[in-house]
Amino acid sequence: DRRTDTGGIAVIGLGRFGSHLAESLAALGREVLAIDRDIHQVQKWSSMLDQVAQADATDEAALRQLGLADVPRVMVAIGASVEASVLTVLALVELGIPQIWARATSGQHAKILSSVGAHRVIFPEAETGERLALMIISRTLDFVEFDEAFAVARIRVPRALVGRPTNEVQLLKRYGVRVIGVKRPGEDRYRYASDVLDLTEDTTLIIEGTIEHVQRFATLS
Ligand code: ADP
Repeated sequence: DRRTDTGGIAVIGLGRFGSHLAESLAALGREVLAIDRDIHQVQKWSSMLDQVAQADATDEAALRQLGLADVPRVMVAIGASVEASVLTVLALVELGIPQIWARATSGQHAKILSSVGAHRVIFPEAETGERLALMIISRTLDFVEFDEAFAVARIRVPRALVGRPTNEVQLLKRYGVRVIGVKRPGEDRYRYASDVLDLTEDTTLIIEGTIEHVQRFATLS
């Protein structure tokens, strides 16, 4: 809703991940309340971020005092201490925060965070690792997953298909992917795919399909 979209955001834990997140949110013009229990982190970031507070985020009363109960969206960026991360999410659930996002550092950690009430769990190391693996072994330039089943990728034409004119219907029937954009060398933007695709070496495609189909198509060789 509109409130969560424009309201302030709190970031808890100013380690490597949380500090980058807080800076990026501030750069996007959002009001950020950053919290860390370590006074050194608080001092380090207070010149770069508008609002930085020292508190133990597992302490519900301390969070309430900072006005956190009125913040629509909170990101728990604590990574190393699973205990601190889980207890912080519990405190935020108690405060009734509408949108609790939490960072996991392992599969088990992710499960626990969901079961104690985090609304969205992100696992940056796993997500980046998966994406990078595909980028390294194929001609994939970008890869985004949706809802554990669906994906969109930006790829250079797979080697096996270079020079083979084909059409959209064939790609959908044979590989289960739909081409939603085509960019030829020298062009500066993507166009909607036409019926017949001329798959030259330097053509890039934006394709959609199930994760499995998109990965299989991207790695055709
Ligand atoms: P990264 O991998 O991003 O560097 P870390 O887990 O090493 O993440 O850092 C997490 C940050 O969260 C540290 O700055 C730490 O002081 C802070 N932190 C840990 N526990 C708490 C807590 N209970 N309350 C507030 N901040 C915490």
